[in-house]
Amino acid sequence: MIKAKLIGNSHIVKTMSSMITNKKLSRSIVIFGEKGTGRKTAAKYIGSAILCQNSVNGEPCHNCHSCKMIEQGSHPDFIQVLPSGKNGIYRLESDLRPIISQAYIRPNESDYKVVVIPDMDNTSRNSQNVLLKIIEEPPEYLVVIMTAASKEYFLPTILSRVTALKTSEQDFEGCRTGVKLSSTNYTDETFSKAYSAFGGNIGKCIEFLDEKTLSKAVEITSQLCVALSRKDEYQILQALFKTNSDKGIIREVFLLLSNSLRDCAILRANVTGDNGETRLLSCCEQETLELSRNINSRRAIGMFNVIEEYTRRLNGNANVSLLLSSLGAQLMDILI
Ligand SMILES: [Zn+2]
Repeated sequence: MIKAKLIGNSHIVKTMSSMITNKKLSRSIVIFGEKGTGRKTAAKYIGSAILCQNSVNGEPCHNCHSCKMIEQGSHPDFIQVLPSGKNGIYRLESDLRPIISQAYIRPNESDYKVVVIPDMDNTSRNSQNVLLKIIEEPPEYLVVIMTAASKEYFLPTILSRVTALKTSEQDFEGCRTGVKLSSTNYTDETFSKAYSAFGGNIGKCIEFLDEKTLSKAVEITSQLCVALSRKDEYQILQALFKTNSDKGIIREVFLLLSNSLRDCAILRANVTGDNGETRLLSCCEQETLELSRNINSRRAIGMFNVIEEYTRRLNGNANVSLLLSSLGAQLMDILI
């Protein structure tokens, strides 16, 4: 099951298999990629490959006692750390220092001990410096796996000592296979909607199909793009208030709208990627393309910054109705 979930991230399977069969296991691994592309699944896969009792060609069997315990989250030598701070930030004293002490305790029943520290995005320099101790000179049985959206979050001193593996989005079929593995109920039509909104990001597609929040946020964002294209204040406010002042939905809408605005700025500035194509992040491509024809790059960046500021206000104790009304007015100020 875990292996199937890694379809499309076959380079991770290959790298691990070659490290394990050649007995050149990297002791620190960074898995990076956008949220939803399978970072945690990859960490679990790597842990299983290392600790499996019947591993063939460096790949986990998914059947032995060890593989099953990892799947159930009960393997004593496969430790997943969780952040206890606000907004998913690791606390140095209560979350990270204890890992260091644990790292020096020998594994219970395997030759290795695997410690996974997920979502290291925004972890302070100081915290990373503390972890450096077990990355620079790990005990002979220890493997540390860290995940984040991008390699940029890590200190150069850490990056120089790790094997970095990227998780990628899937193609249509790969994504469908991944989504099928979850218990999500969906029709071909709703899956196509999810795929067109989030491309091959399996996690986001599952969230879209499972939860009303994300699909509602996508709908509101596409209406906002249309309203912004038309510079219609009434429509902008109407779309914003469709969130019913639900902070969870508003937060999603802000995130999705800033992706669309970022796309507009890039499209207008004619910036292209390595392959000469612009990769859009937006969940509503048509509406975003239309918006990019109606606003210039300066206005797109202006609105992007306003959304960032309002995200901060939303996370504070702002009055939500006031916040949305004032956001509508600010966006109009930029548009006219
Ligand atoms: Zn196994």
